[in-house]
Amino acid sequence: MAAVSDPYKTLGVDRNAPQDEIKKAYRKLARQYHPDRNAGDPQAEERFKEVQEAYSILSDPEKRKRYDQTGGIFGGGFPGGEAGGFRGGFGGFGDILSDLFGGAAAGRRAQQPQRGRDLETEVHISFDQAMAGAQVPVVATIPASCPTCRGTGARPGTSPTVCPRCQGRGIESQGQGLFSISQPCSLCGGTGTQIADPCPTCHGRGQTPQTKRYRVNIPAGVRDGSRVRLAGKGEPGRRGGPPGDLYVVTRVSESPIFKRKGDNLEVDVPITVVEALRGATVEVPTLSGSKRIRVPPGTRHGTVQRLRGEGPPRLGGKGRGDIHYRLVIDVPSSLSKEQEEAVEELAQVMNGNPRERLFMGRS
Ligand SMILES: [Zn+2]
Ligand SMILES: [Zn+2]
Repeated sequence: MAAVSDPYKTLGVDRNAPQDEIKKAYRKLARQYHPDRNAGDPQAEERFKEVQEAYSILSDPEKRKRYDQTGGIFGGGFPGGEAGGFRGGFGGFGDILSDLFGGAAAGRRAQQPQRGRDLETEVHISFDQAMAGAQVPVVATIPASCPTCRGTGARPGTSPTVCPRCQGRGIESQGQGLFSISQPCSLCGGTGTQIADPCPTCHGRGQTPQTKRYRVNIPAGVRDGSRVRLAGKGEPGRRGGPPGDLYVVTRVSESPIFKRKGDNLEVDVPITVVEALRGATVEVPTLSGSKRIRVPPGTRHGTVQRLRGEGPPRLGGKGRGDIHYRLVIDVPSSLSKEQEEAVEELAQVMNGNPRERLFMGRS
């Protein structure tokens, strides 16, 4: 389980850099590390991937927000479905890469090793498990290399042939010179190969779904929607490429008492009118039991008292958040005879008009 690196650092931009600055930084680095210019340099290739990953997060306002909120511990990711577009090839970056390199990027896809797609699965945990951390079973359906054809998609004994339309390049071009348009080959779908006699198990896809079971350590402090990365447990790579990652998204059930607010928890604590007036010490729930907090005399409705360090563990950081106790004055909807008399007496002695200032200066 590794953290996704900081996309801001990767692109060398400020945390509040505007979109055009991010795009500019991305273009510069993508040019610098593009495989076309760094043939066979694994470090450049790694950098190129990082740059792409960083840009895929920061160029998408939704993902960028998610990253900013979760601090990137689990938040750097993106749903597996759309990630496949660029992790697997360069597809998602077509708009920028195509004007940098023409169709070259698309064409490489057919022959080069391809990283497997990132996949995503959900796990449901209780509020208590999210607070304490837990080891939970996770079931994921992973497309695995077909055992019958070993991933070629061709019936055993036969092999795929080079696509006659694109000659194995995976792309076809229309038009000439400046105005030519490159797109994935319409006959082979960009794979560069054709399968005359498909494998009976996978029907030519080269992959079969496989149910995998893992026991995953969910760190203490996760929220609803946190992403735990299982490196290399995603889709297998193609042509010797590395596998993708599996992201486990935590779905945390709500607590009837504690509401999550960022790093902290919030609890509504009812107090009586008398406690609000006179002050009191009241017992409040904590994650591990209970504590007492002070209600000062003259407490207003909605006043918040904090217990520092009693909240959820901070993900990837030190210490814990706080619990905020919101004091809510509980006003009874009906009164007994005795209470009515007491309120009547109170009315005699507390008879100022607090609304006077609302009408000051009016004629
Ligand atoms: Zn097969
Ligand atoms: Zn083709």
